[in-house]
Amino acid sequence: GELGDEQSGLIIAHFGKQIDVEALEGEHRGEVIRCHVRANLGSLVTGDRVIWRPGSNDLGVIVAQQERDNLLQRPDKFGQLKPVAANIDQIILVIAPEPEPHDNLIDRYLVAAENCDIRPVLLLNKTDLINDTNRASVAALLDRYARLGYQIEQTSAHRAPEDDHTIDNLLKTRTSVFVGQSGVGKSSIIRRLLGDESIRIGAVSESTGKGVHTTTTARLFHLDCGGNLIDSPGIREFGLWHMGVEHLEYGFREIRPLIGTCRFRNCRHQAEPGCALLEAEEKGEISPERMQSFRRIYTEIENSDW
Ligand code: GDP
Ligand code: ZN
Repeated sequence: GELGDEQSGLIIAHFGKQIDVEALEGEHRGEVIRCHVRANLGSLVTGDRVIWRPGSNDLGVIVAQQERDNLLQRPDKFGQLKPVAANIDQIILVIAPEPEPHDNLIDRYLVAAENCDIRPVLLLNKTDLINDTNRASVAALLDRYARLGYQIEQTSAHRAPEDDHTIDNLLKTRTSVFVGQSGVGKSSIIRRLLGDESIRIGAVSESTGKGVHTTTTARLFHLDCGGNLIDSPGIREFGLWHMGVEHLEYGFREIRPLIGTCRFRNCRHQAEPGCALLEAEEKGEISPERMQSFRRIYTEIENSDW
């Protein structure tokens, strides 16, 4: 068949060698077109903006990849970094009073986000579970991250959506992903957000005549509030992988400016004389909790088999 005009599109899902592209302009605007990829284009991921053209048999062809703002990556089982999703505006790190948040885990997620150059937001879910026993510790934790300049939001996925505009306000006009430890309520929040949308996206795949394809790779959803959500099981665990010491140092905002300022070049920041981090901690510029967390992740990195 004859090829149509080149036009811009947005990758919303990935099925092996085939990719679903949403047309961003022209007569197909808003439609989802299954596309092949022209050879030697490099790896494309959900969230990528591309140039595509209509082809034969209702199949399109992706002919070019547009520049990315950022790229969320994670290592495969060989430690090789693989792209997962592109052009993400914010990583929403969900925490909850239960399961009790571990500083260490929160900091790992934050380090991963900082290293991908994507803005993290801390979202406290299950506010209905705040009680006299956990109130003070939750407040102290949120305060610690607020002081570092992180945006903090609070919600309860169990509250009626019409009483809670926090999530909509947070997500509108942006492309977001949700991450966080198991049990904090990510699935509950996402289920509430997508409603029928997830079903409709499944139907789009069906209408191409190829049947519904299930996929574990990332998928982009348009939300009622106007924002986009990119989600996959892998993305929800984002951050819990091996990192290097250089990623760790860069990923702690308050430590980043101190990189390279310790007396010894190979300072491990544990108890070495002239350690700039130790001095900053003594002056109260790094909180004891963050410093302890930093040291613990540092030791874990040193002891890992990678
Ligand atoms: P995920 O592992 O992060 O995806 O967490 P889930 O969405 O599966 O939620 C784990 C448990 O927490 C489930 O039993 C949810 O019903 C519950 N849960 C989620 N959000 C809330 C909330 O706002 N309040 C309360 N009390 N429970 C919640
Ligand atoms: Zn040091």
